[in-house]
Amino acid sequence: MKKIALLTLVICSLLVLLVPGVAQAAGGPAVSNSSAQMNFPASLTFNISVGSDVSITDIRLHYIVNRLEFARVVSEVYLTFTPSSKVTTSWVWDMRKTGGMPPGSSLDYWWTVTDAGGKTLETAPARLQIKDNRYIWHSLTRGQVTLYWYKGDDAFAGELMDAVDSALTNMAANTGAEIESPVSFYIYASSADLQGSMIFPQDWTGGVSYTEYGVIAIGIGTSQSEIDWGKKTVAHELTHLVIHQVTFNPYNGLPTWLDEGLAMVSEGALDAQFTTALSSAEMKNKFTSVRSIASPFSAYGGESVLDYAESYEVVKYLIDTYGQPKMFELLSTFEQGSGYDEALNKVYGFDMDGLNTRWLASFKGALVK
Ligand SMILES: [Zn+2]
Repeated sequence: MKKIALLTLVICSLLVLLVPGVAQAAGGPAVSNSSAQMNFPASLTFNISVGSDVSITDIRLHYIVNRLEFARVVSEVYLTFTPSSKVTTSWVWDMRKTGGMPPGSSLDYWWTVTDAGGKTLETAPARLQIKDNRYIWHSLTRGQVTLYWYKGDDAFAGELMDAVDSALTNMAANTGAEIESPVSFYIYASSADLQGSMIFPQDWTGGVSYTEYGVIAIGIGTSQSEIDWGKKTVAHELTHLVIHQVTFNPYNGLPTWLDEGLAMVSEGALDAQFTTALSSAEMKNKFTSVRSIASPFSAYGGESVLDYAESYEVVKYLIDTYGQPKMFELLSTFEQGSGYDEALNKVYGFDMDGLNTRWLASFKGALVK
């Protein structure tokens, strides 16, 4: 019976099993089994079997999710069970209630167990790697970036990795920003596969950046048109992640026009849908102000096309007119938690309204020529 249960565990591709070292305090509680199983992406189950010469009265699970944050947060869970000298119990982390963890992320967990005699045992921390074992992943690493994929040949991965390289080169040339810690790309074969890895997928999700984990997941098929789209998306999402790394601070984020504008510039020249939106705004003389696009864009795709196009133009204007050192200074100022107008004033000598007047004049001037 036990053998069958074990075999089921082994063949079930959704399970990740990790058993930390068995630990014992002299004459106190002793752990005979401890494990964690991931049912990707929806839940994570922690199991423990523990015994003592007297009743076990208290079992707590402690865990730390490994991600970029200002303070390491230890979560503590009290397990419910009937006190006894032998206890087997588990706790299920339902990620549909809390949001999930991406593939490639990890957490460290350990237990404390106390018995009726007042003896407490603390197990050594064990690390659980979150994997999407629904697929068999290949990997390719260059520098700080690793690309995981399961459909398509080496040339497919190579082409995407080349897009990573040129995005990093362009970013360094335009902004001085460089990748600070490892980044993993998970390339799903389609957006449907990608959505299967997410707790709350939305129909339009083609790519998602888990910045605090250093993980980017994108659905890219193997047709040339999808690869072309994929290369742009790789550059876009990588830029968000690197800019997030270099400006990370507990006080303030970036204005959306700067964050999205840098990501758009990394993609290369604007697609027709964006240039059309700009021409139409020009004809109606109805641009959105820099101050408005400092806030998050409309959730409706159609309405935000102009916001993205303007962000590209505004950032391109700053880079082309004032150069890379000033852009680097701007990012460094934001890293110190500066406000939007304050940072612009300090680096360029004008605020967001001043920037609005200047980029528009330059944009219209270029159209007249
Ligand atoms: Zn973006």
